[in-house]
Amino acid sequence: MYRGRFAPSPTGPLHFGSLVAAVASYLEAKIHHGEWLLRIEDLDQPRTMPGAAESILRTLEAWGFEWDGPVVYQSRRQDLYAAALSGLQESGLVYACGCTRKEIADSAIHGIEGAIYPGTCRNGLPSGKSARAWRVRTENRIIGFDDAIQGYIAQNLELDIGDFVLKRADGLYAYQLAVVVDDAEQGITDIVRGADLLDSTPRQIYLQSLMGFPAIRYAHIPIVTNQQGEKLSKQTLAKTLDDRYPQTQLWLALDYLGQSPPAELMNASIGTLWQWMLTHWKLENIPHIRHAKIQPEPSLS
Ligand code: GLU
Repeated sequence: MYRGRFAPSPTGPLHFGSLVAAVASYLEAKIHHGEWLLRIEDLDQPRTMPGAAESILRTLEAWGFEWDGPVVYQSRRQDLYAAALSGLQESGLVYACGCTRKEIADSAIHGIEGAIYPGTCRNGLPSGKSARAWRVRTENRIIGFDDAIQGYIAQNLELDIGDFVLKRADGLYAYQLAVVVDDAEQGITDIVRGADLLDSTPRQIYLQSLMGFPAIRYAHIPIVTNQQGEKLSKQTLAKTLDDRYPQTQLWLALDYLGQSPPAELMNASIGTLWQWMLTHWKLENIPHIRHAKIQPEPSLS
């Protein structure tokens, strides 16, 4: 049984970049006669925009997406993350860290995603320090996986990333922990999402293995960027999708994903377009690249 998901963060309304991820994950689930679940990743409350989750659901509905089961909200699942963290604490795989950002920055070398934690608190909190965050120990070995679009990806977590945070100094559970717990708890078999998360995947595979969760298959689609090469996001002022013109935007999303939709379908009804998508969708046609510019940024609003 195939089970996929779409997991937007409600930091703002949907933009074209998130639509592309939704389309790709949805069509993959459908052509495998699988399920498609929707999870709102609103753990990081300070970054959550009031009303964004409702707006995302409205837009998905307007575009004709149909999800299976109830929508899951990460903000209501703290107990699950707490239980997962205490399991890891019991097995000695995580440790309390009392370092401030500045202390880390002063003594760290840089890896794939910024500072590699220098290991100051790895063998116990130095005297005078109290626990701020919880980190998981990484190992000096290669973690690799075959991504259905990006090919073989490998990292040495200890050398490339360093011991990473599972619970932050502000008390919030980290994305890496929550996503792994949720995907396992929801029985996700396949993840199709943006390639901005490619570098997070070895961390997630590592956590899955520590917690004894089943492996997941991955496909990372190219990230949509604006003409300056920046990822479309609220920060880069990506335009909000206009729910009044779903078929044009869906057509553009298919085009971006290498599916070559016929020009006449641009003005077809949304039902006709979905029918075409469900019979013509091929993951193999997605360009094997990490990002691609879109010009001009689609929006009819
Ligand atoms: N919530 C993440 C985002 O919107 C996606 C997480 C995931 O697909 O694993 O970027």
